[in-house]
Amino acid sequence: MRLNYRIILLVLAMGLTKSSLAALNVFACEPEWASLAETLGGDRVKVVSATTAYQDPHRIEARPSLIAKVRRADLLVCSGAELEIGWLPMLQRQAGNPKVLRGQPGYFEAADQIERLGIPDSLDRSMGDIHASGNPHVHLDPRRLSTIATALSDRLANLDPTNADYYRKRHDEFSQSWEEALQRWKTRALPLVGARLVVHHQDWEYFFDWLGIIRAGSLEPKPGLPVSSGHIVKLKKRLQQEPPLAIIYTAYQSPRAAKRLSQITGIPAVELPYTVGGAEGVVDLFTLFDETLKRLLEVIP
Ligand SMILES: [Zn+2]
Repeated sequence: MRLNYRIILLVLAMGLTKSSLAALNVFACEPEWASLAETLGGDRVKVVSATTAYQDPHRIEARPSLIAKVRRADLLVCSGAELEIGWLPMLQRQAGNPKVLRGQPGYFEAADQIERLGIPDSLDRSMGDIHASGNPHVHLDPRRLSTIATALSDRLANLDPTNADYYRKRHDEFSQSWEEALQRWKTRALPLVGARLVVHHQDWEYFFDWLGIIRAGSLEPKPGLPVSSGHIVKLKKRLQQEPPLAIIYTAYQSPRAAKRLSQITGIPAVELPYTVGGAEGVVDLFTLFDETLKRLLEVIP
């Protein structure tokens, strides 16, 4: 009995040490940024993610539990480029935490750190285009992700100077492993260069830009607009002339439209993880790219 009691005390003490080490509360809008913040921040950060891989990051309900998390946060890490425009400003307003407002050091947008794709020349919002500030799905290009990681590491050091050396060391380790993985992925992905893929939503533009993959069509008539059967029929006609390798969709999208198009064309439909947690074994950013490439390479005849 006495021994058990001691073990309990020890476990409690360890728990206290761990939480007292954590210097920064990080609120990540999406799982990819939660994962990156954990990798770079180690035990000096306490990270929560507002969404999971099974939730559409464009459309999240601003729940009271999320407001409370933003209130406690020292740093918000989000995709930006208006991906979270439907819910994040509301959370920030309700939370009343001036540290994490736009323009403050406690507010970090990944899309701000890199060159964005798909910035429209002119915009007609009545057409339902939800990528008004360019494409916000920036994490799917590992080269851009590397740039974002450097900026995020600097931000952690800036917000928590006592632990700056610790963050720098972790970033160096990440950077080295990431560069090695990049070389490995690039070689593995060679058979995909020039491949044509149909997407559900335009959330793969950065991945395609990295590997030289061509978007052969989208199930959504415009980013954010619902899939219609009329559009599927038009798409089918267009694809007959030059059939693509596959139709891809993600864990947060309904597979119905992709499977319907697959049925009527014979083109395989493939579910991809999209972010950390989006498939079994996808536990970090490394396994995200490993699994994505594996699933795409499997459909090459
Ligand atoms: Zn989008």
